[in-house]
Amino acid sequence: MKTLPVIALSMSLVITACAGKEAQMEKDQTMTNKVVKTDTEWKEQLTEMQYYVTREKGTERAFTGTYWDSKEPGIYSCVCCGQDLFLSDTKFDAGCGWPSYFKPLKEGIIKEQKDTSLGMVRTEVLCARCDAHLGHVFPDGPPPTGLRYCINSASLKFAPVELPE
Ligand SMILES: [Zn+2]
Repeated sequence: MKTLPVIALSMSLVITACAGKEAQMEKDQTMTNKVVKTDTEWKEQLTEMQYYVTREKGTERAFTGTYWDSKEPGIYSCVCCGQDLFLSDTKFDAGCGWPSYFKPLKEGIIKEQKDTSLGMVRTEVLCARCDAHLGHVFPDGPPPTGLRYCINSASLKFAPVELPE
């Protein structure tokens, strides 16, 4: 007779666990609306440089990209999935030859992960929606965040927009 409550308890635990997982998955999907494509599909959509940078974690050479020196007002979005990533008023001249921003457009759109390639420890930043490699984030940016999102032009697509003051 003593086993009955135990079984009931463990069953309710299983049910709770499953419900929790489903809720989490739904949340992830609505938050990022995940975009998943095959390498072939990405290759068809992107230029060679865009594919190399975003899908193979490459880096364009400094001062060679389209946007490192651009100052036009507008929005920079992910070249792969179109998610809006940065506003021009968070862009600053870091003198490094890549477009640099002190913060993303909003929370949850950029994913960070540790990158130990090339004998360095850096924080890689990726598009949370399609996992495109964007660049790296460094703790040497200007106020208010003190962060420098150093992004490849090849990962971005710019649209001129009048930003509210
Ligand atoms: Zn993306």
